[in-house]
Amino acid sequence: MDKTEPAKKTGKAETTNALAPSSEIKALWSSIYDMLRNEFGEAVFRSWLKPLTLQAYYHGTLEVSVPTRFMRDWIQNHYQEKILSLCAAKNPEIKRLEIVVVQSSVFDSELSSDNAKPANANEKLTKINGRAIEELEENLSSPLDPRFTFESFVVGEPNALANAAALRVSQSGNVPFNPLFIHGGVGLGKTHLMHAIAWSIKETNPDARVVYLSAEKFMYQFVRALRYQDTITFKEFFRSVDVLMIDDIQFISGKDSTQEEFFHTFNALVDQNKQIVISADRSPSDMTSIDERLRSRLGWGLVADLQPSTYELRRGILESKAKALEADIPSNVLEFLAHKISSNIRELEGALNRIVAHAGLMKQPVTLENTQNLLSDLLRASERRITIDEIQRKVAEHFGVRMSDMHSARRARAVARPRQIAMYLCKRLTQRSLPEIGRKFGGRDHTTVMHAVRKIEELMDQDNSFQDDVDVVRRALTG
Ligand code: ADP
Ligand code: MG
Repeated sequence: MDKTEPAKKTGKAETTNALAPSSEIKALWSSIYDMLRNEFGEAVFRSWLKPLTLQAYYHGTLEVSVPTRFMRDWIQNHYQEKILSLCAAKNPEIKRLEIVVVQSSVFDSELSSDNAKPANANEKLTKINGRAIEELEENLSSPLDPRFTFESFVVGEPNALANAAALRVSQSGNVPFNPLFIHGGVGLGKTHLMHAIAWSIKETNPDARVVYLSAEKFMYQFVRALRYQDTITFKEFFRSVDVLMIDDIQFISGKDSTQEEFFHTFNALVDQNKQIVISADRSPSDMTSIDERLRSRLGWGLVADLQPSTYELRRGILESKAKALEADIPSNVLEFLAHKISSNIRELEGALNRIVAHAGLMKQPVTLENTQNLLSDLLRASERRITIDEIQRKVAEHFGVRMSDMHSARRARAVARPRQIAMYLCKRLTQRSLPEIGRKFGGRDHTTVMHAVRKIEELMDQDNSFQDDVDVVRRALTG
């Protein structure tokens, strides 16, 4: 084997060669590497740190690589600081530790038996159909946000149950209920809790294969697997995980092969006593676009909801975020925000970030007056947020059709026209995308919604009384 060339054959090797570490740095890294096992313990070393490979050294930056982005994120989040301080203790010139992803060639057998893989590789599943698990994980799962942990999740009455259930799942070691089904409106913390579960399980058991992804991604990857005739890999991958988390399951809609596939995966994992965690914007029984069998199965474990936030919870969250931002914010500003922005925590956070950024830029303190000015547009939108549901209800009421006709396939003009009007109003009065609107109308295609919007605009142009009709409903909605 060539001694000077690191065992990576990627385009990157060219550029890093110019910055190739000196023999002094190599010796330093090698002594640090030897210390890692003692510093962090055998389990952590084997699962996370063993693949660390020195790549380069430049201007006080030590660059090391790992084979996957997931590993990089985890190490950054948990061990980077400590490793850097070990390095700096040996050589004070080292100021930064940069962790980069350098993928080893998947099919290179020499590499996979080399130290680019955890030492216990032969005990663990490392390949499916000749494809490395790590590569599959990169493609078939989504990264976890390092900020979304239990520590940063503020607990209050509206989310106490979901939080307790999430903690149980992540700490109990066995499978207390299957699946854990978390549901609630937009921005109330579903994704945050799921990531927190994943981080927590990985922390206590670094070998656990926790796979998190959105239902949309699951669908997309399944369709892709079908197209490339690689469904075997897809199936085996999902049936081999220890914990499967699917976010926003409401997007698995329609009676198609994806739902079928998900159902089988679900059953296979439940049979093996593997934990499943699911989130959705509504309860299992309200998921009418999901096949009956699957729907009832989803409700078999524990169903925990995230209720709309209360003033106290919003206040608590703001305090915690302000602290994390190291921002000094007067309590009347926090109170004002907690009162005014009540719909969703993401917006609350966005507002806080904006005020803090603005104050920093303008070198002004945060005051109630500045806040009111800065957020006037946001507040206006938040005060009156119209939902698709509301629009459907109002239109149905106005035209004397049933609410169910908004979702039904009936094409009779008497129901089809009001349905088109509702779609038109959804496009005009909400921020929803065409596909989202289509889904809310019984899983219709986005082109159908687009057609409806055009049709209604055309009719309003041609017919004044029709326009008046639509306007009455619009005014009733916008108040
Ligand atoms: P959802 O998935 O339900 O739409 P998210 O989990 O993405 O919502 O949450 C939206 C934002 O609000 C995230 O930045 C999240 O960290 C934050 N958030 C929600 N609930 C809480 C909470 N109880 N404590 C702290 N942050 C929260
Ligand atoms: Mg989410």
